[in-house]
Amino acid sequence: MTMLLEVKNLSVNYGKAKALKDVSFSVAKGEVLALIGANGAGKTTIMKSISGLVRPAAGEMWYKGKPLSKLPPYERVRLGIAHIPEGRRVFSALSIQQNLEVGAYTQENKRQVGEQLEKMYATFPILKERRRQPAGTLSGGQQQMLAIARALMSAPELLLMDEPSLGLSPLVVQEVSHIIREIAQGGTSIILVEQNALLALTIAARGYVIEVGSIVLEGAAPELLNNESLKEAYFGV
Ligand code: ATP
Repeated sequence: MTMLLEVKNLSVNYGKAKALKDVSFSVAKGEVLALIGANGAGKTTIMKSISGLVRPAAGEMWYKGKPLSKLPPYERVRLGIAHIPEGRRVFSALSIQQNLEVGAYTQENKRQVGEQLEKMYATFPILKERRRQPAGTLSGGQQQMLAIARALMSAPELLLMDEPSLGLSPLVVQEVSHIIREIAQGGTSIILVEQNALLALTIAARGYVIEVGSIVLEGAAPELLNNESLKEAYFGV
């Protein structure tokens, strides 16, 4: 299996606090990987390390065989890595279309940007309908769709999704899951961070469990779903 991303012995500190200790994992091309763990376990810190928003204290990251660690975030976007942050973070005062255009900021080919925009409008008709309205007028679920579409504007090969289900109603969560599956079927690799471990493991093929900054368990999704200790701790059974 060719690895798209390899993370080796990653450690991140926030001042004196050790947020990640010696974290190693990899993502294969086309794979959906789940990172599960409690609040504060370090999942978001892993995502920020990959997209370049935090600087690791130690470790290496390789993307398509190239070292990532020294590249600024926009260079990583250019290489094919897109990050959908926790809490969606759409630009509320900008229109939906402007939000989408921001997602294509590393693309120089205007025609390609236009084509990508049309693709997004075909996938998310509600965004097309409301394209001139400020993003702040969208519902939480629609803002999540916009955040996903904005990330897809850079036509990523690796999509980092941080808590896409957070704060959404069960019906909208179903919709978002459906979209994540579609993106994966299109061949995009995804790292899915979720506190909703059940949801993440029904979408992902494989998962890692993070506890206080370290990986404590790795396995195929069906295996993890049947793990008795995980059932109690994470699946609310
Ligand atoms: P959540 O689901 O709440 O985002 P998480 O698993 O993603 O949790 P992180 O956000 O990566 O966890 O946080 C890991 C640890 O680092 C936590 O103890 C958190 O309090 C701490 N932390 C995160 N960001 C900072 C920061 N900017 N400064 C100091 N400490 C931080």
